[in-house]
Amino acid sequence: MKRDPRFDILFEPVKIGPVTSKNRFFQVPHCNGMGYLRPKSLAAMRGIKAEGGWGVVCTEEVYIHSSSECDPLVEGRLWDDDDIPALAKMTEAVHEHGSLAGIELQHGGYCSTNHYSRIPPISPSPISVDSYAPIQARAMDKSDIRNFRKWHRQAALRSKQAGFDIVYVYAAHSGTLLTHFLSRRINRRTDEYGGSLENRVRLFRELIEDTKDAVGDSCAVAVRFCVEEFLGAQGITSENEGKEIVEMLAELPDLWDVNISDWSMDSATSRFESEGYQEPYMAFVKSMTSKPVVGVGRFTSPDTMLSLIQRGVMDMIGAARPSIADPFLPKKIEEGREDEIRECIGCNICVMSDELSVPISCTQNPTMGEEWRRGWHPERIEPRNSDDGVLVVGGGPAGLECALALGQRGYRVILAEASQELGGRVSRESRLPGLAEWGRVRDYRVLMLERMANVSIYRENPLSADEIFEFSAEDQFDYSHVLLANGSSWRRNGLGRIHREPIPGLDKLKVFTPDDIMDGVLAKGRVVVFDDDHFYMGGVLAEKLRREGHDVLLVTPAPDISTWTHKTLEQKKIQKQLMDLGVELATQTNLTAAETGKVELSCIFTERKIERECDSLLLVTERIPNDGLFNSLNGDPERLTNAGIKTLKCIGDSFAPATIAAAVYSGHLAARELQAEPQEEVPFLRERIQI
Ligand code: ADP
Repeated sequence: MKRDPRFDILFEPVKIGPVTSKNRFFQVPHCNGMGYLRPKSLAAMRGIKAEGGWGVVCTEEVYIHSSSECDPLVEGRLWDDDDIPALAKMTEAVHEHGSLAGIELQHGGYCSTNHYSRIPPISPSPISVDSYAPIQARAMDKSDIRNFRKWHRQAALRSKQAGFDIVYVYAAHSGTLLTHFLSRRINRRTDEYGGSLENRVRLFRELIEDTKDAVGDSCAVAVRFCVEEFLGAQGITSENEGKEIVEMLAELPDLWDVNISDWSMDSATSRFESEGYQEPYMAFVKSMTSKPVVGVGRFTSPDTMLSLIQRGVMDMIGAARPSIADPFLPKKIEEGREDEIRECIGCNICVMSDELSVPISCTQNPTMGEEWRRGWHPERIEPRNSDDGVLVVGGGPAGLECALALGQRGYRVILAEASQELGGRVSRESRLPGLAEWGRVRDYRVLMLERMANVSIYRENPLSADEIFEFSAEDQFDYSHVLLANGSSWRRNGLGRIHREPIPGLDKLKVFTPDDIMDGVLAKGRVVVFDDDHFYMGGVLAEKLRREGHDVLLVTPAPDISTWTHKTLEQKKIQKQLMDLGVELATQTNLTAAETGKVELSCIFTERKIERECDSLLLVTERIPNDGLFNSLNGDPERLTNAGIKTLKCIGDSFAPATIAAAVYSGHLAARELQAEPQEEVPFLRERIQI
């Protein structure tokens, strides 16, 4: 297909100092949980971004010296020459596709706890480290500043040696030493590096000059700068110091990559911000510099991208999460297939992987993080191994992805879904407050499936075991493989992490589950929500009920609300929103019993009990896999054989309830593995430390 000429402008080359990007698509630095520990995985993942058409592909933050490390988090490392070969793998993979490779050099200052190196952290002024660790950073003296400049210069030279085309001077997010020097809250120095804005900017300026001097002949020197910290007058704002700093340094770097801080604001989820949310803060930058400007804002719409360039907001479309969800986003626009873009849903499962120090994963893109380990490609898949037909039962995220990947392999696929609507939990959950974009998991897959001649979708078809046995031989169906993606159901008895036995007295109170609420059953009067699940569901249902006018008390044994959402950078926002809405919160509290018109709550430490009156109770604890169908079929091997069913598999939440990302992954894996070599025999591929 030919691309829409309207989008030609997105494919114009952009000169960045001494190098030129082939187009305006810029994969900004992003963490991935691979870092220095898993260089082959990293190179394969970045290479696929380049193959997918990103003109520039950057690293994550790459730490330049042992005085700044964030173990156990896994980021990049360029401490000495021995780190060069690992990074060179990435630049080779990126260059193979004619893209530029960028490196974000990082020193975390007081935000590096240095548990591994055991070197006291450094900072412009003495300050406690940025966690609850009992460590304080020491103030840098002049020789420390000289050393820091030297380390940065050496890292820039090593970057050039590793083959990078763009070297960043990094002063964004809250965790970089340069940001700390810029900040009047943190920099309390009285020498020429503290006090006035000019003094606080001095080190930033020196570093840009040093880097240009060291590698500027052949590498572009980019800055990443945060124009808004959301700290009012105490911080950098796009109204005052953010603007002044850009003005002071306007023509010094070769490129301005600008964003907002901290990371939870920069990588805001779709629950809190929609596409383009950073524009109001960064729009001023272009008018102050002739150098190319990059910005981000979870851009997935080619029309938005076009408008950003045409309106002069930015010169290059920056993306981290959209490039994770669809590494081939630029290629799809280039080839006139923009409707096939797998749009980021803004859920931050990618961030979660990084926070867990494991290779990155993505709800929309099950191949993300598996490019090296499993050899998965987001756009290519092994062709089918036979002419067998396949039945997929259940059209939730697992079933949809499984049917799609099987369809792409060329199998004849029948997808049967009980309800009228496809999408399963994704459709239901996307109707909850703030979660509308999650519907993209369904939309992308349904669009692709409906275009496939070899896939038939049967809605309103709840299949029983008998029907599955009987239909298998019918000419119009004729399948030899059955994949069951029947989902899961929320428990109604309170079983979960804290209760290994049902909560007593539940028969005396009106009890709801999340399924009831999502099915439109209305809660009554005062509602107690008991959250022993700890991800988003408890918080989002409390929000929904409150918005519908209920008095809501949210009870959780965890130390804070929706505590797992720390890993998606949402926890503070969720708790604040619930407090602002007037939801009453009881943390570190168990719900020990229900009685007529009330519940009994208990402190998780002292077991001191209190009673609270309520009209209904919503239990958000644990899910039961809907594996009844699987058990019936699996329990009758003779009938399976007689029906010509060669393989039977249970996938997604009906196998093991987890995240939507896990369900999509499970569906994809099952599709890849159908009639392939049995994977149980293959050792789990890992990057081993060479000794
Ligand atoms: P997952 O996350 O594993 O994909 P979901 O709960 O989102 O699970 O989706 C499961 C889907 O399977 C739902 O849309 C449900 O209606 C459908 N389903 C469950 N049992 C059957 C069945 N016996 N026949 C057809 N569809 C079914």
